[in-house]
Amino acid sequence: MHVENQNSIAPQPTAEELIALCEQAYGLRGTVGRLPGENLNFLLQGDDGQSYVLKLAGEDLPAAVIELEHRMIEHLISSGIDISLPRIHLNRSGQLETEFRDGDGHSHRARLLEYVGGTPWCEAGPPSTGLLRDLGRILAEIDLALADLDLPPAHREHRWALASAGVHRAKIELIDDPGRQALAEKMFHLYAAYAPRLAEVPHSLIHSDANDENVLVANDRVVGLLDFADSLYNPTICELAVALAYAMLDHPEPLQAGAEIVAGYHAIRPVAQDELEVLFPLVVGRLCTTVAVAAERRSIDPDHPNWYVTEARAWDLLERFAAIDPTDAAAELASAIDSKPGMESGAGIPDLLRSRRMHVGSSLSIAYEQPLKIVRGSGQYLYDHRGRPYLDLVNNVCHVGHCHPHVVAAGQHQMERLNTNTRYLYDGLAEYAGRLAATLPDPLEVCFFVNSGSEANELALRLAETYTGRHDWLVIDGAYHGNTSRLVGLSPYKFMGPGGKGHPEPWVHVVPMPDGYRGIHKGQDRSTGEAYGDEVGRVIAGLDVPVAGFLAESLLGCGGQIVPPPGYFQRAFEHVRTAGGLCVIDEVQVGFGRAGTHCWAFEAQGVIPDIVVMGKPIGNGHPLAAVVTTRPIAEAFANGMEYFSTFGGNPVSCAIGMAVLDVIEEEQLQNHALELGGHFLAGLKTLKEKHELIGEARGMGLFLGLELVRDRETLEPAAEDAAELVERMKARGVLLSTDGPLHNVIKIKPPMVLNRDDVDMVLRALNDEMSKLP
Ligand code: PMP
Repeated sequence: MHVENQNSIAPQPTAEELIALCEQAYGLRGTVGRLPGENLNFLLQGDDGQSYVLKLAGEDLPAAVIELEHRMIEHLISSGIDISLPRIHLNRSGQLETEFRDGDGHSHRARLLEYVGGTPWCEAGPPSTGLLRDLGRILAEIDLALADLDLPPAHREHRWALASAGVHRAKIELIDDPGRQALAEKMFHLYAAYAPRLAEVPHSLIHSDANDENVLVANDRVVGLLDFADSLYNPTICELAVALAYAMLDHPEPLQAGAEIVAGYHAIRPVAQDELEVLFPLVVGRLCTTVAVAAERRSIDPDHPNWYVTEARAWDLLERFAAIDPTDAAAELASAIDSKPGMESGAGIPDLLRSRRMHVGSSLSIAYEQPLKIVRGSGQYLYDHRGRPYLDLVNNVCHVGHCHPHVVAAGQHQMERLNTNTRYLYDGLAEYAGRLAATLPDPLEVCFFVNSGSEANELALRLAETYTGRHDWLVIDGAYHGNTSRLVGLSPYKFMGPGGKGHPEPWVHVVPMPDGYRGIHKGQDRSTGEAYGDEVGRVIAGLDVPVAGFLAESLLGCGGQIVPPPGYFQRAFEHVRTAGGLCVIDEVQVGFGRAGTHCWAFEAQGVIPDIVVMGKPIGNGHPLAAVVTTRPIAEAFANGMEYFSTFGGNPVSCAIGMAVLDVIEEEQLQNHALELGGHFLAGLKTLKEKHELIGEARGMGLFLGLELVRDRETLEPAAEDAAELVERMKARGVLLSTDGPLHNVIKIKPPMVLNRDDVDMVLRALNDEMSKLP
């Protein structure tokens, strides 16, 4: 990991050199002494009876940033702000900075600032309510005054920029204490899950560093604000969040104190609902930055005098905040104002369970030992009724991210205009069908639109049966293809599972799972793939009936995230086609770029099916599914009996489906799946080296699996450990599930907008939790 070396001990000129500088450059005589704090600041007691601060700039501080500070301070003064600010005195040449060289040959840039009197907040004792409100008021006045000032150098990255505090997350690895590491992980997770919402709140130029050394107090009022070095263009609410983070340190009732600051701020610059919702996570983000930067600095110099002043207090506050639900924290911070965060929790879990039991069929299961009540989804996150975020590694349906704004807008827009059925002409249907067909290789060109993967598979069966005049099917062991009676009959996952018949119906012929890890042929090479392909031929050879087709997932989902070895589908298709059957590929779980290398996972095997079935991600959660086939197959189906689906392919569905394709293209999600999936799989393979429990880490793109075993020789499945790991990861805010016929495979199939930080966090958490499994 890259360790920043900023703020390492810089060369210091002598007092004599500084005195000489003041005289030459500013015409001031006096005495000079170092001021406490991280920065190279010196107090100049002028013979004119005035005090000044001489500030040496770090080498990497661009002149444009000094200009920015100057313009901000002058702007604030001219707008009538009633506190003292460190105004810059120009040197004799009228410049903001003076360059000089010290006796050791080091060059420096100095500025002379007005001395700002007052006691630093951290030394002023417990703050009164009035002082807390005054801090809020001043910050709001500053933010309002700066709102109309947009200076180009302010649009910059900065290591303390609260909107990008996530950059410090990887430093968690440098925290020595495992308990604290887990605490930082949890709190960074909270910050990271709310940070994307900052895109929706107002941005402006802010001071961004109202910490407890920079805020100066006298007579129970805020009288000064120092240090404009962190100023930048950021979400305006970050101003308040930074101040809250420091003012809450050591406070016996931090959120109550925070509420007073918020109230002071709100009276001048009203805090909007969405700002209130991100405020607590932002405070947490600042505290996380403090402890992460401290961990980084310790790796450079554990004894540096000023680097760790806030660290211990920040840990204490993080500890306290870890026990508070984000909804409660947001409500408490807003307790003294009329605006409220819109994080309503609704009915409690016991009530929901009760009414569900009363009125909803109990064959539906509920995930996790303690069920989750989810109230919101955004990107790769789900949020429960307490505001706790969960990184979603389960929902491949919300392919381009939960509630993607482009998809939502497309649906809303179309719903406002027209929703009807396919018996009318409308632009969306033809356009969408064309776009969808264009993603597939020739001769797959004719689309049918339906409402679920099951319905699509049903239609695929009918298409193949009409075309071939046959009714027997080949299907892969462990597969799931849908919930209708025929598809349950074609899903070994169901008919061999609990409540199932325990054997296939006469028209269903099961071929072995092409599982190179645990199956009858071992290995991931072409010869294994072909050996499994020949198993399809073997089953066909044993039949005394002709088959209509072979229905197969291109990557086996319910089968346990299995990637068939290369050559499998080529060989299997040869056998099926020789027998006069059609090859139907179910891409319901894995299509639309998830496999990374291709849009459709079957393409990775170099085959072209006769019929492709798609669902789940196609509408990003909107009930839409499709079947795409060749013209001859489609024409054979047009035998006089109409095929009609009331909702299938309606204008709203087409608009949504099209918006999903837009996002996949615009955000280059297929390539993202390739790159991020590669990184993820490499990380899982590294975990396998550390943890005997992992028998195999496998997958393609963002469709990954971890098969857990009690013994790497016997492959005894570790289903209980898999279930336990899923629960433990849930407690850490990561949603996973188990699958596979032996229930020992951890499934990973997140929304495709997952990012590298998320993956690294998951890998750290998996490593940690696997180390703790009994
Ligand atoms: N095929 C596969 C591979 C699936 O995973 C599923 C759903 N899990 C289906 C078909 C059925 O889709 P739906 O639930 O939309 O009917």
